[in-house]
Amino acid sequence: MVMIGVTGGIGSGKSTVCSLFEKKNVPVFYADAVAREITEGPARQEIVSVFGKEILDTHGALDRKSLAGIVFHDAGKLDQLNAIVHPRVFDAFQEWRNSLPASTTYALAEAALMFESGMFQSMDYVLAVMADEAVRIERTMQRDGSDETAVRARLQNQLSTEELLELSDFQLQNNGSLSDLAGKVSFFAVLFSTLTPPPEQS
Ligand code: ATP
Repeated sequence: MVMIGVTGGIGSGKSTVCSLFEKKNVPVFYADAVAREITEGPARQEIVSVFGKEILDTHGALDRKSLAGIVFHDAGKLDQLNAIVHPRVFDAFQEWRNSLPASTTYALAEAALMFESGMFQSMDYVLAVMADEAVRIERTMQRDGSDETAVRARLQNQLSTEELLELSDFQLQNNGSLSDLAGKVSFFAVLFSTLTPPPEQS
């Protein structure tokens, strides 16, 4: 089985791409969604002990906005949060991978922080979903109802287009319509089904 990572900047269309692959019965691991569940569940206690009770709302639930407000303005704090969450996401990924049917030709793992988290090391190939910054900002504002400043703050913590181009094996340009995107996903679905794992690098 070939494992393909899917990454890209905020609002590039990673999740949309993955959901189109899922429609073709390709298994997908959504690392960002799993990270959210872990943050609010098994890792909650540890996160509160590091960040303090001010990141809890009045019901004692983790207030993701206030946590985001801290970590997206402080790289050190973001590292601390990632050190708590990433190993658990990785364990969940391994469990998911081991549960895939032996007949699986290829599967996808979507992660915004594919390279920064080290998850790329478990991938045979990485597909970067790319779109112009203005397009990504506009789509994210529309999707989340957030303002441009908030989106730009998150953008700053992400790899540049040049870095993504350098690190990824395949790129999918998603500046066009949703039907353009569906066509590109169909192309990559055929391509991916022909791949074999790359030779071990010494
Ligand atoms: P994030 O990193 O914030 O999780 P993402 O890379 O997973 O974002 P998506 O959530 O897939 O991005 O897409 C962002 C928004 O843009 C969504 O509302 C999605 O429906 C929309 N979108 C994605 N691709 C297109 C497209 N080609 N045309 C129009 N809208 C699109």
